[in-house]
Amino acid sequence: MRSSILIIYTGGTIGMKTDAATGALVPFDFSGIYDEFPSLKRLNVDIDVHTVSPVIDSSNVEPANWVALARLIRDNYARYDGFVVLHGTDTMSYTASALSFMLENLAKPVVFTGSQIPIGVLRTDGREKLITARIGDRPEVPEVSLYFQNRLFRANRTTKRSAEALSAFRSYNYPPLAEVGVNIAYNLPAILQPEESPAELRIATKLSGGIELIKLFPGMGEEILRAMFSAPGLRAVVLETFGAGNAPTSEWFIRVIEEAVARGIILLNITQCGGGRVSMELYETGLKLQKTGVLCGYDMTTEAAVTKLMYVLGLGLPDDETRMLLRKPLRGEFTA
Ligand code: ASP
Repeated sequence: MRSSILIIYTGGTIGMKTDAATGALVPFDFSGIYDEFPSLKRLNVDIDVHTVSPVIDSSNVEPANWVALARLIRDNYARYDGFVVLHGTDTMSYTASALSFMLENLAKPVVFTGSQIPIGVLRTDGREKLITARIGDRPEVPEVSLYFQNRLFRANRTTKRSAEALSAFRSYNYPPLAEVGVNIAYNLPAILQPEESPAELRIATKLSGGIELIKLFPGMGEEILRAMFSAPGLRAVVLETFGAGNAPTSEWFIRVIEEAVARGIILLNITQCGGGRVSMELYETGLKLQKTGVLCGYDMTTEAAVTKLMYVLGLGLPDDETRMLLRKPLRGEFTA
């Protein structure tokens, strides 16, 4: 049976080609995709393309763009077997993580991909990606994933790690869902499976503001930290701590944290190391933090922690339910 895919182009380097006349990079017209890539015709798949307007450099992405993307997928959900989102690489892990939370009861593949080299440039990694990203149309991967350099990752486990290397993305704490060589090797036990008869796709359209990301460094200083915690409208803080979730034990530091917790601000502790996890009971420097009421973010990426807070707080639930949702993995975003 032929499957059908909707390719959604949102912007970014992948969608550019060199203008023959001027030599400058210009956006690629995806409506001519079969002329440009005749090999796509050989795949047993029907492709439609939707270009969002305006296309953006992904550094300009906002939660409103994520809501628009979620709506687009919902509105086309019944018509397609899978979705490929072409996105700038700079914030792709944020967008893809956000969508992983916003698309509730997802049972079809949504694959994000992009490129550090334009699609029209010879030997681009984008061309090959665009074609092989269709691996996401297999029912084996019915989750939001991110495809880069022959690897399909769970999107909310990824992070952009290189501004130059072609293999720009890493998933430090979770194995790839599939690897593409001559054949496609699926890592079936690692892939989330929807329930037998999944409920209808629903999307979250409210994402909370008032989120702060604070990365600790030695010598941060009380005044600066206090200023950060007194931002108007502050609701939650992702605290990027040292190593396995450790922070200074100095009296002033703990006091600032305790005061924030007492004001009802949610604090989520993740590590600023690329790989590994927070285990606050390992050292006294973590234990003190745990005692203040800071929540453990386990092995979550920054991107997943920030967007999960936006999503969960956006649900508008009572405080205990909010905390309950933050303590458990909702889309495989951490391993406890
Ligand atoms: N600045 C671009 C973007 O993220 C870079 C890229 O596409 O790789 O939109």
